[in-house]
Amino acid sequence: MEIPNYQRSLIQKKQCFSPELEPLTCNLKQTTKPLNNNSFIYYLKTTKKDPSLGMMKGNIFDIKKFAIHDGPGIRTTVFLTGCPLDCWWCHNPESLRKVNSSNETNKEVSVEYVIQEIEKDIIFYDESGGGATFSGGEPLVQFDFLYELLKNCKRKNIHTCIDTSGYAPFEKFEKIVNLADIILFDIKLIDDELHKKYTGVSNKLILENLKKLTEHKNKVIVRVPLIPNVTDTKVNLDKLVKYISSLKNIIKVDLLPYNKIGEAKYNRFDQELRLGKLEIQSEDKLEEIKSNFDSLGIETSFRG
Ligand code: SF4
Repeated sequence: MEIPNYQRSLIQKKQCFSPELEPLTCNLKQTTKPLNNNSFIYYLKTTKKDPSLGMMKGNIFDIKKFAIHDGPGIRTTVFLTGCPLDCWWCHNPESLRKVNSSNETNKEVSVEYVIQEIEKDIIFYDESGGGATFSGGEPLVQFDFLYELLKNCKRKNIHTCIDTSGYAPFEKFEKIVNLADIILFDIKLIDDELHKKYTGVSNKLILENLKKLTEHKNKVIVRVPLIPNVTDTKVNLDKLVKYISSLKNIIKVDLLPYNKIGEAKYNRFDQELRLGKLEIQSEDKLEEIKSNFDSLGIETSFRG
């Protein structure tokens, strides 16, 4: 189906009233680049019901559109419920709910539903080199659901990232490592006693998994959440830099400065702020941290 130029410009101006093209209008408002015809045609094809999609269901607590910090390009981030960790600073306390408990922040949805939501923005992925990111919580907690989502994205040529705490049996990573394009792997604390104290679990499995995953070329982006006085201490950062220097094939390091977004959620969910109210890192402190990581010779940038 050829989309004439005049119709394309009408769509971009949100003035197209064709029922078939109507769904496009709501998804085009943020585009700044000219769109190519193939993207339109693909979009139209993929927004129709796809009988081959599985009906498996899983639990999510959010889908974020136009995410720009969860992997390359413009992405749709799907937040899966459930996490085996219990980090004192968790920005998504709703993710910690039990997978099967139902409430307004924990929806049971089908693979088909999630894939159709992802496909709505396929033209933006094409234009920006983006795709879908599966986050949480810990997405590997709902392994079968995640596996189906990744498999369907792969079948439809949609780039995928998994945002993981790394705390899952390695056999699970092995099964999805070739389905996912990039693994965003969080490391928090190198000292195991501190790791247990602040996350509720040992870091042994996490560090072992990371080492094994970096046997794969161009697969892993290491992410370090900078939590004031917990993970951003000089002692921990020096150990982290040393540990990362022992790994190979890392694409890059993302440093995640502290932000206060999570604090409001704790009030809403009536949960205790175990670290109290924290101050965000100053520019000088962030630059000092980054210069430590720059010594690794691996691309390092800030996110968030
Ligand atoms: S691993 Fe992530 S989602 Fe899980 S508790 Fe920690 S910060 Fe929250």
